Amino acid sequence: MPNFSLNDDVFIRAAEKFPTPFHLYDEAGIRSTARALNAAFSWCPDYQEYFAVKALPNPAILKIFKDEGCGLDCSSECELLLAEMSGFRGQDIMFSANAMPPEEFDHAMALGAIVNLDDISDIDILAAHGGIPETVCVRYNPGGDFTLGNAIMGSPGDSKYGWTKEQIAVGLKRLKEMGAKRFGLHAFLASCTTDNSYYPKLAGILFDLGAEMEKECGLPLAFVNLSGGIGIPYRPGEPAADIQGIGEGVRKEYERVFGDPTNGRVAIKSELGRYMTGPHGWLVTRAIHEKKIHKDYIGVDACAANLMRPAMYGAYHHIHVCGKRDYPADHVYDVTGCLCENNDKFAWDRPLPEIQMGDLLVIHDTGAHGFAMGYQYNGRLRSAEVLYTAEGDFRLIRRAETPQDYFTTLV
Ligand SMILES: *Cc1c(COP(=O)(O)O)cnc(C)c1O
Repeated sequence: MPNFSLNDDVFIRAAEKFPTPFHLYDEAGIRSTARALNAAFSWCPDYQEYFAVKALPNPAILKIFKDEGCGLDCSSECELLLAEMSGFRGQDIMFSANAMPPEEFDHAMALGAIVNLDDISDIDILAAHGGIPETVCVRYNPGGDFTLGNAIMGSPGDSKYGWTKEQIAVGLKRLKEMGAKRFGLHAFLASCTTDNSYYPKLAGILFDLGAEMEKECGLPLAFVNLSGGIGIPYRPGEPAADIQGIGEGVRKEYERVFGDPTNGRVAIKSELGRYMTGPHGWLVTRAIHEKKIHKDYIGVDACAANLMRPAMYGAYHHIHVCGKRDYPADHVYDVTGCLCENNDKFAWDRPLPEIQMGDLLVIHDTGAHGFAMGYQYNGRLRSAEVLYTAEGDFRLIRRAETPQDYFTTLV
């Protein structure tokens, strides 16, 4: 089920304080998810979540994760700056490389971050930009298809990321000669999955590979990084991931390969983004236009520039009309934005209650990869972001852009 934890009263009060459209984030919800995740992995003495900054890059949110004992996963110069301004340093930052300007390694190394190398050629780049650290992580790409049961979850063979197994064996030996003392292993093989066997299967693959590489290369495995990919139920009726069960599943794999987890032999890290904040954000927008031609259209004051996932992937985001949750969904609408692009829609043929102009529409599950993917096409500007605090106040954590912001980079 999409997240219905906030009453309509909250959205209505927020819309009295801030002009629509805006993204509203629920601090209490984000904290409770972080705590449930930490509890699910509490059997591992050295577990840490590194929130994927790209999912929701706002310092007010990143500081919540700092409070909850999490680190951050960054993969660009600006994300490193965000981590720095939010108070993160050293090994609480994971820097995930992939075809990036070499100078970004210098910055990551100056912060003392853990660097996750995406390719064997990154060894020489890192040596020249910050030097080879004692602990270094490499990203694994097993190739082929990645399956859970009978389902194909992803096609690593077609993915630009990571090293082959043969490259890891060669690369780790080189890294050892260059001064590395231990290594970490990372892989990201399925995106947005609520299949509870994903993390356990991935953990088993990385634990086995780590144990094999330790023997072959003579470097100890310091940690396994399970990365992101745990999904959320965007559609009504879809089950949520069972995080406690997922933690238990990873524990069984740990015990199979390394024995009693209290030995603290190998640390575990994750870089969840969507799972952490996705359900705790909503895009609040207002119906401002109605049009009946071959179909019925409701135009709202948000557009794909504020939430690109439906336009880009045809992704489903649940929508409810404020104050009409219990009304019968006896009208069928396309809910659209105002871009001059026919894919600028938040919903296609969606059964909803009858909508009047001025109604507030709440688009669910926008807390990850929502605002963050925003853009300015058609001269449409990015919206505000508002935090609904654990104390029940509304705090503006990013103002809406103005035309002045749009013109500021012109020369
Ligand atoms: C995007 C990304 C994540 C987060 O993915 P989610 O699907 O939001 O969990 C984690 N790690 C890396 C390296 C990523 O690129």
